[in-house]
Amino acid sequence: MEMDEYAIGLDLGGTKILAGLVNSEGQMISQAQLPTTSEDGEKAVIERVLAAIESVMSDKKVNRRRVRGVGIASAGVIDSKTNEIIFASNLGWSNVPIGKLIEDKFNLPVRLMNDANASAVAEWMWGAGKGTANMIYVTVSTGVGAGIISDGRLLSGIDGSAGEFGHISIDWNGPLCLCGNRGCLEIYSSGTAIENAARTALANGDTAISASLLHGSKELTAKQIGEAALRGDRFSIDILKRAGFYLGVGATSLIHLFNPEVIVFGGGVMNTAPIILQEIEKSVRERCIPGMASQVRIELNRLGVESGVVGAAGLLFSEWEHERKLQIF
Ligand SMILES: [Zn+2]
Repeated sequence: MEMDEYAIGLDLGGTKILAGLVNSEGQMISQAQLPTTSEDGEKAVIERVLAAIESVMSDKKVNRRRVRGVGIASAGVIDSKTNEIIFASNLGWSNVPIGKLIEDKFNLPVRLMNDANASAVAEWMWGAGKGTANMIYVTVSTGVGAGIISDGRLLSGIDGSAGEFGHISIDWNGPLCLCGNRGCLEIYSSGTAIENAARTALANGDTAISASLLHGSKELTAKQIGEAALRGDRFSIDILKRAGFYLGVGATSLIHLFNPEVIVFGGGVMNTAPIILQEIEKSVRERCIPGMASQVRIELNRLGVESGVVGAAGLLFSEWEHERKLQIF
């Protein structure tokens, strides 16, 4: 234990900041959580980020000199070269040099990545993708995103934006997406899409759904639809199955491009895994090049809400490992 290496992972979310001191086995030794409260302004949030890091760094069981760096997982558009958050709507931030601020204060290397990429690293190193060199993690929640591990490394692209799976087009003539493309996968398969599908049916006067889903409330969330589906509500099941079908269409392209051993699905919508995951699998099996389909597994994520923190730290471990191998050969 004494000689173990550590990295700090921090998940910077719209509602909370979660920092963890992570060992090389992917275990969180200590953690600190603070509310983000972004309405207090950028400076206040940055101070809380620094305080959360300081708090886990001060763990008395751990020698500070064995802490090798800080990984930050953030939603929004990031630049992994400059370690800047370019735009994050959930924080109301643009062009915040978060990496440099942390580096200056703690004198440690910092890696900034988007939250899907962080969770991908976590599942790869310590979850459902453990032991593989080619895997893809797909998150399905409000939006759809992915992190790609290719030949034993996180594929980051030129600035860390690689893996925008939700914005591959599955219909060239489909509705315009906020990103500028048309017919993006997430328009058909995200939690938001699931809510929209149910709302449209409600607006069309489908009384069967209002009775089974709404229970008198006006809200209609993907979570409610998922719970209704798991209770056996036919209408909700159909909506989820359709989302699963589209995810399988998208996943087929991922398989054709990256030839992964496993695709791991996570995110809030996967609470309905007993329904949606087999639909994804079915859609993949129908469409994928047979030789490639037979080699890929479709699996559910194993790590929970801490995967952002653990994976952000994990990226630092994986980079040292990679450098160590390069030095040997
Ligand atoms: Zn898009």
